[in-house]
Amino acid sequence: MNKNRMGKLGKLGITEENILACKLPEYEQGKNLVQAEDDMFGRTQHMTPATLSCWLRLKQSAENEGITLQLVSAFRSIDYQCELIAAKLEKGQDLAQILSVNAIPGFSEHHTGRALDISTPDCEPLSEAFEKTPAFKWLQANASRFDFTLSFPRGNTSGISYEPWHWACQSLD
Ligand SMILES: [Zn+2]
Repeated sequence: MNKNRMGKLGKLGITEENILACKLPEYEQGKNLVQAEDDMFGRTQHMTPATLSCWLRLKQSAENEGITLQLVSAFRSIDYQCELIAAKLEKGQDLAQILSVNAIPGFSEHHTGRALDISTPDCEPLSEAFEKTPAFKWLQANASRFDFTLSFPRGNTSGISYEPWHWACQSLD
């Protein structure tokens, strides 16, 4: 990891020890990202071209079966991940607790442009309650046909909590 990055992490109180304890891989920031639809909050979202193509097919296929999938978040830059953590620290949250739900900047799959947070109407976004929705059941049964996999299943060993809403596209082109 370069000095500049280490400096930014240091400002957040993230130490070399935190980084060594991180079981997630370090990700390159995605390149050649394309603009997708706005997310459910009206923010512009970007993802890799392959992810966009898989996502559009996934969403349409779900819609055909009466399931509405909504985009909560796609690409996030390493700097944006720093800002997210800084904002939580400012609100008084504890770093260890933050790092159980937010990856250390540089280690979030969202940096690649292949990871999507997905929700459905009448469900609090980014909540475990998503697993009780027909949308989640549908994703479990069908997402693999569109090259999407659940990155943080219950009981995963990555150090990140169970995230039924976080799906990553495995298609690399
Ligand atoms: Zn996510």
